[in-house]
Amino acid sequence: MTTDPSRAVAAGSIAQWDHETDVAVIGFGAAGACAALEAARGGATVTLYEASSGSGGASAMSGGEIYLGGSGGTPAQRDAGFTDATEDLEAYLMMAGGPDADAAKVGLYARESLAHYEWLVAQGVPYKGTYVPGKVIEPETDDTLIYSGSEEAWPFSEKAKPAPRGHVIQYMGWGGGRLLVDTLEARAREAGVDVHIDARARALVRDEDGTVVGLIVREDGREKAVRARRGVVLATGGFCMNREMVRLHAPTALRCDSPIGTIDDGVGILMGQSVGARTIHMDQFFTTCPWYPPESLVKGIFVNAAGQRFINEDCYHGRVSRTIVDQPGKKVWLLVDNAIFARPMELARVDLTAVGETWEEVEAELGFVPGTLATSVAQYNAHAAGGVDPMWHKAPKWLKPLDEPPFAALEFDLDSSYFSFFTLGGLETLPTGEVLDMRGEAIPGLYAAGRVTCGLPRWGAGYSSGMSLADCTFFGRMAGKSVAARGADTALAAE
Ligand SMILES: Cc1cc2nc3c(=O)[nH]c(=O)nc-3n(C[C@H](O)[C@H](O)[C@H](O)COP(=O)(O)OP(=O)(O)OC[C@H]3O[C@@H](n4cnc5c(N)ncnc54)[C@H](O)[C@@H]3O)c2cc1C
Repeated sequence: MTTDPSRAVAAGSIAQWDHETDVAVIGFGAAGACAALEAARGGATVTLYEASSGSGGASAMSGGEIYLGGSGGTPAQRDAGFTDATEDLEAYLMMAGGPDADAAKVGLYARESLAHYEWLVAQGVPYKGTYVPGKVIEPETDDTLIYSGSEEAWPFSEKAKPAPRGHVIQYMGWGGGRLLVDTLEARAREAGVDVHIDARARALVRDEDGTVVGLIVREDGREKAVRARRGVVLATGGFCMNREMVRLHAPTALRCDSPIGTIDDGVGILMGQSVGARTIHMDQFFTTCPWYPPESLVKGIFVNAAGQRFINEDCYHGRVSRTIVDQPGKKVWLLVDNAIFARPMELARVDLTAVGETWEEVEAELGFVPGTLATSVAQYNAHAAGGVDPMWHKAPKWLKPLDEPPFAALEFDLDSSYFSFFTLGGLETLPTGEVLDMRGEAIPGLYAAGRVTCGLPRWGAGYSSGMSLADCTFFGRMAGKSVAARGADTALAAE
């Protein structure tokens, strides 16, 4: 049998099923683990197929940070003195979702986020419960709670009362995602999920009326036909590693040099499309060049090749980075004075390219048209001295005139600086995980969760750390519950 993920296999062409299960989950990252776990707890027999030699995916590479709050606040939020109303979480997530935020998913997640936190804890996900103030990407320690988005920055702060919502698994330093996946894997195996590693899904199988009834998987050196009586859950991750798909759907991301993930070849999206699924927001992606900490840099100003500011610098590093990618040319500069000078972390690959005793000197050294960059600084300084930023509304605590020489420009170059990215567009799903077809109707037997879908995070300029894993874990659970419940009676009756 020669299979192609873009072409579904007709059930009628399968002479004999090699394996039968109620639910087949494809992919063993956070989304697949949560889907498999809840499906098994929902009473289904569950088989999980993972192409690699073990669980993980991008989820295990991650910081293990999850965006949580609402209902008054999680214990970590409350212990640190924050209250977090569901309405504020919802308002923030709606803004973060951009012009086409998914109100149904956002509303459900905002209402259930605290319960989801409690569920994670019940699975054994450890949280120390401590708050780390300031502009950080992730705690360097094993602490829990950080501001992980643009909550305190304009325009978000005007619509939603700020609260820190990034909850990081208790793990010393960056990279707790492995522990998160290990914890979920342990629960899934305890629940009876039958895990097949080195088993790569190749295509979906559908019957004559369009119902997805199984898949073809390459395992033990051959292609096997798997019947999934209640349905298939796609949890294969996004498509940042598939350059051709990025070229076709998210060409702006080609300006970023570093896709991050593991397989992330979009195969789940192709399989979904093979049975008529529709995709949304395929052009959207998260990117970051980690330019803070040190947080003193937030008091600097970014200018583009025209010498113009383009954002309030107190936004989340990813929102600033995403906006950098949209600027003309390939370079932007962060302007700093002696009082706030510091170097970004080495990972960012940001160089100091000009130093001068006046801003005119810096402007000339960078080759700007006279009176462009220097005028932007002079205008910013005049406002900052009065504690205001009428152009971009940077919060007063980050405002300081850049008036202490020497002055310097830190150069962000899309050709050489580290701009990591992953994709946010994918299959359109209901909050239940059901995958929608071109008419907006659920495709019977097909579910999806995580970055193979377009979920809560769907707008690069609104992404905040923790939103992807929030979406993967929570809506992975929803998909698992739904598929387990689907046709349970008919599936059993058909035995
Ligand atoms: C370095 C890094 C740090 C990050 N930090 C955070 C963070 O702290 N918080 C946050 O919210 N997000 C973070 N992210 C993003 C987040 O980790 C991912 O978006 C998320 O984990 C995706 O989860 P997933 O379950 O959809 O996919 P994955 O975790 O990638 O899992 C997909 C799985 O499917 C498997 N697979 C693929 N194709 C097939 C196939 N054909 N057959 C069988 N199996 C297949 C893959 O091998 C993989 O195991 C980070 C990402 C990176 C790379």
